[in-house]
Formats: sequence, C-alpha cells, structure tokens
Amino acid sequence: AKAAKKAKTLRTAADFDLRLTSADRVIFPEDGLTKGDLANYYAAIAELLMVDLRDRPMTLIRCPSGRAKKCFFQKHDSGAMGAHVLHVPVKEGDGKTEDYLYVDEAIGALECVQMNTIEFHGWGSRIDPLEMPDRLVFDLDPDEGLGFDKVKAAALRLRDLLADLGLETFPLLSGGKGIHVIAPLDQSRDWPTVKSFAERFSRAIAEAEPETFTANIRKNQRTGRIFLDWLRNQRGSTAVLPYSARAREGAPVAVPVAWDELPDLKAANAWSIRDAGELLDRAGSKALRGWGQAKQALPDF
Ligand code: ATP
Ligand code: MN
Ligand code: MN
Repeated sequence: AKAAKKAKTLRTAADFDLRLTSADRVIFPEDGLTKGDLANYYAAIAELLMVDLRDRPMTLIRCPSGRAKKCFFQKHDSGAMGAHVLHVPVKEGDGKTEDYLYVDEAIGALECVQMNTIEFHGWGSRIDPLEMPDRLVFDLDPDEGLGFDKVKAAALRLRDLLADLGLETFPLLSGGKGIHVIAPLDQSRDWPTVKSFAERFSRAIAEAEPETFTANIRKNQRTGRIFLDWLRNQRGSTAVLPYSARAREGAPVAVPVAWDELPDLKAANAWSIRDAGELLDRAGSKALRGWGQAKQALPDF
C-alpha cells in the first residue's frame, strides 16, 4: 500500500507538455524496460537531475534502437532535438566555434529522452562562466575484475587526501563499475589550472600508493589497480551527471551517496530507473542533504 501511495505521487512523462512517441518500445531488452519507463523515470526525478544538468554543456548518449544496439554520443546541436533544447556557441581549440547543447528546464531534458537519449553527461563548468569549472571530478576506474570493496576503499582514501588539502568531496556511484569523487568549486580558477591540479594530484597519489592507484590511462598499467581518471577535468571533457540513467544492462542510474553509507553499498549500479520513488526519498533525507554543495576554491598544490 505504501508503494502504491508513493507511485501515485510520482510525476510521469504525461505531466509534461511532451509528445512522447514509441513509448512501448523496449530499450532495455534484458530488463523489459521501455522508452516510456525511461521517460517516466526522468519525469519523476527531473528536479534532481536539473540541479547538475541545468545550464551545463552536455553530451547525450542516444540509442534510437535501444541500449543493446548502436548508441552514439552527441555533443553538438543538430537542430532537431526539441524547442527547449538550447545551444551555446563554444570556441574550440582550432579557433572554430561550435554549438553545444544545454537545457535550463526539465522539459528540455524530457525532449532529449523523446529523441532517444538514455544518458546525460556534462562539462565541469556551466555555460556562464564557461571557462571556470564549478567542479572537479576524479573518475575511479578499476581494473577489470577488481572488487567493489577496493573501489570503495580507494574513494575513501581519495576523500581523506583531498580533505587534507581543504577540499570537501562527494561520492557518486557511476551506475557502471566505478565511483566518481566530486569536489564542487567556486568558479575562481580556469580550466588549465583545474586540469593541472587534477593531473599533478593524481600522479602524486599514484606515485605514493602504486599498489592501489595508477594515473596512467593505459590498461596494461592498471593490473589490480584503479586508474585515477583525471582527464575528466579538461575543457570539453564530460562525466556522467547525477541521476542520469546508463545504457547498460539492468538500466542502472548514477546515484549520489553519502560517505557514511558507502561501506554498506554492494555495487556502483545499486539503483536503477525502477527506483525513482526511493531516489526521491533518499534525496530528501538528512544523509543526502547538501550533497554536492560547497563553495570552495581550488587549493594550492
Ligand atoms: P564506469 O564507472 O563504468 O567507469 P563511467 O561513466 O565513469 O562508468 P568511463 O568510461 O570511465 O565511464 O568514462 C568517464 C566519462 O568519460 C563518461 O561518464 C563520459 O562522460 C566520458 N566518456 C567516456 N567515453 C567517452 C567517449 N567515447 N566520448 C565522449 N565522452 C566519453
Ligand atoms: Mn569511470
Ligand atoms: Mn574513465
């Protein structure tokens, strides 16, 4: 009865001014979940998604025939996404300017889902100021077969090392294999400065604790270790955003968690798009209040 009551209070895609087509198409074949199920998930948690998605250049993973068929990254505007899918001109390294996608309200995100988006990824900065990141992301990528216990221990270690520098961080389950350790920033430093910090810090940890970490992207350097993927912190790079679904088996979701609860969690894909009600409850809980919120400058390192 409790579940029924909760379900009734969840927003669905029908609560949005959206023309959703092919809602019955199965897009998670292993799970029997449809495009309509995904749209309802995003409708229910839209306000949580928008906290980080709003006004951030985004990359979409679109899977027109479902997650098991061909999917593609889309970062530039193709003009056909929807009336609330906006674009911002961004100067590229080669001097050319390209339009990047962003949304500033939930209906825009739902329009992306109508266009067969499963995943939402974002830059580490907002469209204004585009050149000043508002977060630092350490993407922990475990070697194949490395247990989740090792990933959790590494994330906690990283938390402590960053705390020693005065940076408060927040863990995000990626919905895949790893954990992203996120430090909100006050937008007082530019991209080259933030990237340089991320690289130097990661290389220093890998040198000091080589049994756990590597800062080298090459897979053959990863044996039994965790790759500290500092490359997420360069201009134009993206990371999966909190509450994004993943185009993976089980229809998992990237989920913010509290450091305190991390030891009890069994996997980085512990929640799925079936869990909108629970994710909403969690987000309102004391443990998650203030997740991702901290006004802090990048420390010297
Ligand atoms: P996992 O925990 O399984 O590693 P993840 O989301 O961290 O999941 P990664 O492969 O580590 O996956 O990638 C980190 C981020 O880099 C992604 O979330 C995505 O935003 C970005 N990314 C990865 N591959 C590509 C790609 N081919 N094109 C654009 N961005 C990519
Ligand atoms: Mn990763
Ligand atoms: Mn990675």
